[in-house]
Amino acid sequence: DFDREIKVVVLGNGGVGKTSMIRRFCKGIFTDEYKKTIGVDFLEKAQFVDALQEEVRFMLWDTAGQEEFDAITRTYYRGAGSAVIAFSTTDLDSFKAVPSWKDKIIAECGDIAMCLVQNKVDLIDRAVVSGEDVEAMARQLGLKLYRTCVKENINVTEVFGYLAELHHKK
Ligand code: GDP
Repeated sequence: DFDREIKVVVLGNGGVGKTSMIRRFCKGIFTDEYKKTIGVDFLEKAQFVDALQEEVRFMLWDTAGQEEFDAITRTYYRGAGSAVIAFSTTDLDSFKAVPSWKDKIIAECGDIAMCLVQNKVDLIDRAVVSGEDVEAMARQLGLKLYRTCVKENINVTEVFGYLAELHHKK
């Protein structure tokens, strides 16, 4: 029985690593290609959060790129207490789409705990956006920035710990 439960939605353009991030965090695995199921996949993970000195139950939904369908959208966002807005180091469109993902979260869920995630930092030599531009985007949107490599498990746990902490403060 957990005192703390938090539903986290992971958003961002296709291919930025949302499914990979959810699998990595919940199951501790990474593979290059996941077989994406139609509909919404549910995963959960209990994780001790240092900042709260408490175990938190994270509940995550993976939409497998079906977010554009209204029926799924509603199930997906309902009750979400926090959100990851992710983009990829190597995909400029995914970076440009960040403000619209934030607007979407606010429209569906209100001002919940959110952060900005730049994934695939292992591919930094192929970056299509500068560090300064990324920091400017985070500042402008008022979001804390995490740079992650889901592939090598860098900063993934930190993202979820931060969201639990921010959610607790709100
Ligand atoms: P989604 O469409 O946002 O759910 O993205 P996926 O999780 O399906 O990932 C898209 C592709 O990016 C897959 O081939 C992943 O293996 C790959 N990927 C995810 N995270 C990383 C990362 O940190 N580094 C690298 N190099 N590839 C990644």
